[in-house]
Amino acid sequence: MIKQKATGELIVISGPSGAGKGTVISKLLEDNKDLWLSISATSRKPRGKEKDGVEYYFLSEEDFVKKIDENYFLEYAKYQDNYYGTPKSTIVDKLKEGIDVILEIEIQGAAKIKELVPEAIFIFILPPTEKELLKRLIGRNTEDSNKIIKRFERAYKEINEVTKYNYVVVNDEIDDAVEKVKSIIKAEKCRVDRIEDITLANQEEIIHEAIINKKFIDKTIYDNIKK
Ligand code: ADP
Ligand code: 5GP
Repeated sequence: MIKQKATGELIVISGPSGAGKGTVISKLLEDNKDLWLSISATSRKPRGKEKDGVEYYFLSEEDFVKKIDENYFLEYAKYQDNYYGTPKSTIVDKLKEGIDVILEIEIQGAAKIKELVPEAIFIFILPPTEKELLKRLIGRNTEDSNKIIKRFERAYKEINEVTKYNYVVVNDEIDDAVEKVKSIIKAEKCRVDRIEDITLANQEEIIHEAIINKKFIDKTIYDNIKK
């Protein structure tokens, strides 16, 4: 009847550091095999229990710059003195397989993706309050106070970009925020521009079959309607 695009959606998730992007995304991934999180490369050092190839591909600044020259990245940006970039490989294959791909990237990278793939879904995650954001940044215990302050300062610049996104989700209660993102993805899959083709079976044939099978249409009523 209706043939919809079989390709996956590209979902860009941004938001200030500490808003809870990582937490929301890991919950989204828990029960969805059709969702894949792109692993970025970065020149920042691993923090806490982060492992190479899991949270990020950790590169030296020199290797990162080399990869920029080799056109390895779909987009890249400098954030707080470190490079971050999305490797091109795998993303297209995943989308073709019908897998939705999440890019968890900052605002400059998201703007670049908007130029390249305007139909991508752009979601901005916000904390409920500024105070709560600072509390989460401190509570995460992954940066020293100098870096925490820099990230908190940068948050204000990022929040001003929210209107460039399609959706904003306030991450107050985590399960509620996750449900909202799930609903956004579900709704996006029902967009009419995902319809590739409409082919309808012959209406007369279906009605005749129903009359012959005496299923639910009475022939005399049908003939009267047709008069
Ligand atoms: P981001 O990826 O946006 O930098 P994280 O996912 O690392 O943020 O979350 C920052 C901190 O806030 C973490 O310690 C996380 O456990 C906590 N956190 C995330 N979401 C919530 C929430 N809804 N309520 C309370 N704490 C949260
Ligand atoms: P963190 O150091 O907290 O892991 O990430 C810092 C910021 O870099 C976050 O806003 C995160 O979304 C962003 N980021 C992570 N990977 C990429 C990427 O590949 N490209 C861009 N542009 N930003 C990224």
